[in-house]
Amino acid sequence: EVRVRFAPSPTGNLHQKSLSCRANGGKFVLRIEDTDLERSTRESEQAMLHDLSWLGLDWDEGPGVGGDYGPYRQSERNVLYKQYAEKLLKSGHVYRCFCSNELFFCCFEIHMFERFHLDWDRGGSCNFLQLKIHKSLELSGAESTKQDGSGRRAGEGNPYTYRFRVPKGGSLQIDDLIRGEVSWNLNTLGDFVIMRSNGQPVYNFCVTVDDATMAISHVIRAEEHLPNTLRQALIYKALGFQMPYFAHVSLILAPDRSKLSKRHGATSVGQFREMGYLPQAMVNYLALLGWGDGTENEFFTLEQLVEKFSIDRVNKSGAVFDSTKLRWMNGQHLRSLPSEELIKLIGQHWKSTGILTNSEGQFIEEAVHLLKDGIDLIPDSDTALSNLLSYPLHATLASPEGKPVLQDGLPAVAASLLATYDNGDLLSALEGGHTGWQTWVKSFGKSMKRKGKSLFMPLRMLLTGKLHGPDMGATVLLLHRAGISNVVASQAV
Ligand code: GLU
Repeated sequence: EVRVRFAPSPTGNLHQKSLSCRANGGKFVLRIEDTDLERSTRESEQAMLHDLSWLGLDWDEGPGVGGDYGPYRQSERNVLYKQYAEKLLKSGHVYRCFCSNELFFCCFEIHMFERFHLDWDRGGSCNFLQLKIHKSLELSGAESTKQDGSGRRAGEGNPYTYRFRVPKGGSLQIDDLIRGEVSWNLNTLGDFVIMRSNGQPVYNFCVTVDDATMAISHVIRAEEHLPNTLRQALIYKALGFQMPYFAHVSLILAPDRSKLSKRHGATSVGQFREMGYLPQAMVNYLALLGWGDGTENEFFTLEQLVEKFSIDRVNKSGAVFDSTKLRWMNGQHLRSLPSEELIKLIGQHWKSTGILTNSEGQFIEEAVHLLKDGIDLIPDSDTALSNLLSYPLHATLASPEGKPVLQDGLPAVAASLLATYDNGDLLSALEGGHTGWQTWVKSFGKSMKRKGKSLFMPLRMLLTGKLHGPDMGATVLLLHRAGISNVVASQAV
């Protein structure tokens, strides 16, 4: 069974890079990696879960849902970690280490430096190094690392960590689903701590125990975790667990190809939501970073992505985050929403921002219909509406010279238009809706002896203030409706 997990640390916002973890088939397991007790907060966890749900990335197992492999928060799995740490101590893959981290690394560095000159047998023990370098410490490896805990130092209550004994010499390979074979020289890796002296297990250890005991088949994560994978693979082997498939996806890059960070603008899902992005567009865009279905098609719904996404089409190189494209994609998704949904979203937005102070449903519906082609992001609809409603029709008709384009014919059309406006003809025609408008245009054209472009261009300019735009009749009818229903557009936009 395919079981993919998403394992965010609740220490900040849900970062978009994480989304590449979406499962293709199988179970999607959510695990909260809150081993960093100081930085992890429940608020941050809640916000992440909310962001994930907002994106539509529901999890099959995890917090709030449960499942057979819980608990799904690392902070609640300490008993398990302790159990596996003891197992490793017993099997000799781990030893007690009484060094401070600084001392250990200092020893290791010196050892690495000198091993080519002095024929030291590293002996696999931190204490051995300590012994060599700090000659005054008369401490035998066996004494401190006795597995039953009866070693002298442990017995005296000296604090110790559980340190993993990295096999000496040789190398370790994994077959990464995206990067192919990845290989490490084990000589460059020092023995590492898996449990601190206060009994707190260390991140890499927890991840391995969790992935193994949660029966995870595919570990998909950012390439920056590759150094962790080396340590985790060693722990897998030592515990005799079967290794999962690994897939390390590239980081998302800023346009200057540096690592995308806060200084490049919004990076968290929550920020994009606040900017008015649709979850469908976010998921679609993020999936396309470094992946494609092999065709020109770029528009995918979440369902289509779940069906089509496959790891073997994921690109090795980092993809550049292009906010213009994300915006465009949002427009595509916005316009493909069922029209009631779009009307509801934009209507709610107009009401919440106060741009519409008094409005009827029918007006909103027509306005959305008219303006949607020019809107990529819901907040764009403010400017579009405000442009539409703030057009000073009467003033323009009275002094058309202000319009530099279409000088030719503009004043004449304006004069007749003003007359039909003032005597009520235009207004009563508009009462007749679309048919009323069409009849009026026809007879107005006839009286002016104009048709086609020479009629519509000056008319559009005069009536809507623009040379181009959505359907003229619908726009004028909407403006008319706005007038009679007292719609007020805020001028601030
Ligand atoms: N907790 C890690 C993070 O938030 C995820 C590591 C993993 O997927 O193994 O970056």
